[in-house]
Amino acid sequence: MASHIVGYPRMGPKRELKFALESFWDGKSSAEELQKVSADLRSSIWKQMADAGIKYIPSNTFAFYDQVLDTTAMLGAVPPRYGWNGGEIGFDTYFSMARGNASVPAMEMTKWFDTNYHFIVPELGPDVNFSYASHKAVSEYREAKALGVDTVPVLVGPVSYLLLSKPAKGVEKNFSLLSLLEKILPVYKEVISELKAAGASWIQFDEPTIVLDLDSHKLKAFTDAYSELESSLSGLNVLIETYFADVPVEAFKTLTALKGVTAFGFDLVRGTKTLDLIKAEFPKGKYLFAGVVDGRNIWANDLAASLSTLHALEGIVGKDKLVVSTSCSLLHTAVDLVNETKLDKEIKSWLAFAAQKVVEVNALAKALAGHKDDAFFSDNAAAQASRKSSPRVTNESVQKAAAALKGSDHRRATNVSARLDAQQKKLNLPILPTTTIGSFPQTIELRRVRREYKAKKISEDEYVKAIKEEINKVVKLQEELDIDVLVHGEPERNDMVEYFGEQLSGFAFTVNGWVQSYGSRCVKPPIIYGDVSRPNPMTVFWSSAAQSMTARPMKGMLTGPVTILNWSFVRNDQPRHETCYQIALSIKDEVEDLEKAGINVIQIDEAALREGLPLRKSEQAFYLDWAVHSFRITNCGVVDTTQIHTHMCYSNFNDIIHSIIDMDADVITIENSRSDEKLLSVFREGVKYGAGIGPGVYDIHSPRIPSTEEIADRINKMLAVLETNILWVNPDCGLKTRKYTEVKPALKNMVAAAKLLRTQL
Ligand code: GLN
Ligand code: ZN
Repeated sequence: MASHIVGYPRMGPKRELKFALESFWDGKSSAEELQKVSADLRSSIWKQMADAGIKYIPSNTFAFYDQVLDTTAMLGAVPPRYGWNGGEIGFDTYFSMARGNASVPAMEMTKWFDTNYHFIVPELGPDVNFSYASHKAVSEYREAKALGVDTVPVLVGPVSYLLLSKPAKGVEKNFSLLSLLEKILPVYKEVISELKAAGASWIQFDEPTIVLDLDSHKLKAFTDAYSELESSLSGLNVLIETYFADVPVEAFKTLTALKGVTAFGFDLVRGTKTLDLIKAEFPKGKYLFAGVVDGRNIWANDLAASLSTLHALEGIVGKDKLVVSTSCSLLHTAVDLVNETKLDKEIKSWLAFAAQKVVEVNALAKALAGHKDDAFFSDNAAAQASRKSSPRVTNESVQKAAAALKGSDHRRATNVSARLDAQQKKLNLPILPTTTIGSFPQTIELRRVRREYKAKKISEDEYVKAIKEEINKVVKLQEELDIDVLVHGEPERNDMVEYFGEQLSGFAFTVNGWVQSYGSRCVKPPIIYGDVSRPNPMTVFWSSAAQSMTARPMKGMLTGPVTILNWSFVRNDQPRHETCYQIALSIKDEVEDLEKAGINVIQIDEAALREGLPLRKSEQAFYLDWAVHSFRITNCGVVDTTQIHTHMCYSNFNDIIHSIIDMDADVITIENSRSDEKLLSVFREGVKYGAGIGPGVYDIHSPRIPSTEEIADRINKMLAVLETNILWVNPDCGLKTRKYTEVKPALKNMVAAAKLLRTQL
């Protein structure tokens, strides 16, 4: 009985790759040094898997930046602006595409399916001359072999590669990317033949796009591609790996009928319906790579449950054709639990990071083969039982409050236009009111204060004094700039989710639980392990202090339940929506306390609402329903005169605009300035939006300072589509990552633009 790992994190247990990359980019270390750190990481990962007993160990899942960019390099599909002249692609060209250089900006980056990993989007068109320009897949295979490990080289499959691409600038928007299949397959053939020559006996193609709702034309591309590759692939065992969702029925038929393919990998954690499809019909004589160990989460596997699933599958595909695997690449989970020395022991026993998941996969494979490690299984069963019965997990009053939510959809009593009237009487704002999204620049000094307070190097009094001074500075600056609705600047927050998670019950934090987000950037999501409640107010102290410093309205600033959920590792012992409702109840308590403390404007950020949208269309309505409902729960209890804002930092809303309206916020601020007015087109097409709306007037991701004219021009474009009395003027997002030297002039111009237009209306 065999075991397989789809892919493994690259960063290293202590983010070794991150530091090596950043030092190389800063010119502090050489290319050789970066190569050395990387080779050491690869070799330790391969050895670790080999020692654990894994039979099918992946190679080429390492990347200096991103596996899709690696594929772009393999295919020589470098956009001309990077000035590449052929030959093997080196660090210069590779990192220029990833990060830009002094004269050319980076290629676009976008989310990898519904994960928080971002890939570099290939830019393709009819004129691209594909050529075999990076031999990385083969050299990694050889490198492992030299270390005594025979690996399964992994490639992004040709169809997924094209489906994840976009037409290059100047190429018609409706150019058929799939028409490039015949041009890229010759390169794939060269790679395959080199891999064969190097001794590979297996190859893995990741084709995750097959889980999306593809039309028959796109599905046919899989049939065409693998028929074309069939003869090159002969002599190799070929695994097509899918992940992240159920494989739709038609796609399953297409997939399992592919020529030249010997094995299929499925995500059986998210793909419970795929399990039924397999049970109904799986092609005879083919391998099934059963992804039962969750690559998207940090929970220890329920080994007994997985074993029984595997036993059932064994009856269908045969003992020698079943391979135990992970649900997807382990890239999306934390690296190694061994380094979590500060985690509570009991909670730790419930967890498994990538290194532990490798051991679980192997333990399952051994058990299937009749060599069950009884001690390992019984420890696991004990941990599962302790998690079920632990008083840390269950909080009866939270359960009751959440259950009592049923039967109401939690809407504010008055409709939005009446509320806006009532609020205006109280707030007395000018037309085109100006505001910002929340954070102001986070200086080194500020970070030091927070760090020293955490480490107990400065006293509570000193800390409070320092933060209050910072708030005061930010308040005075906004008054000078003549901004209408102020923020306190969030100096006490390290991160918009962590700040709340640390104060809520049911959350745990890791020291090294990093997950790659893009390039060298990693995030460390909190772990939600138990029922969520709010023992004490979380923001009232700071918001009241800020309000006391000004006569202008001060926005209370909260992170919404859906965003907290989507940016955490979420418990898997209850549905996501139940956890979300619990967080919503905690935020509701906070909203009401802020209101009592005299805060009349409260912003509840739902930056990550869009990114939790399920991949399969059939599941989207349900998600949007509970996500939007959770948001409404947080603020349905406030009086009409309390103005509820929300903020989203993503501009791709056109398909979910009705859900956004259904959130029923009084004001929404949305990222807009990089979206070519896509957002505005919704309103141009006649969607009615009665609430306040602030589409960002300038891009905060760039150090560039927008001029007054440019901002006024933007606002004018909005005024052409939206009613004057609902439009707000604000930047795209928080100013945390910017410098004061950029923020001051940019906001000055923003306020000037709003004032200019007021005189013209
Ligand atoms: N209030 C947060 C800030 O300004 C919002 C951040 C975000 O949307 N990502 O930093
Ligand atoms: Zn934002």
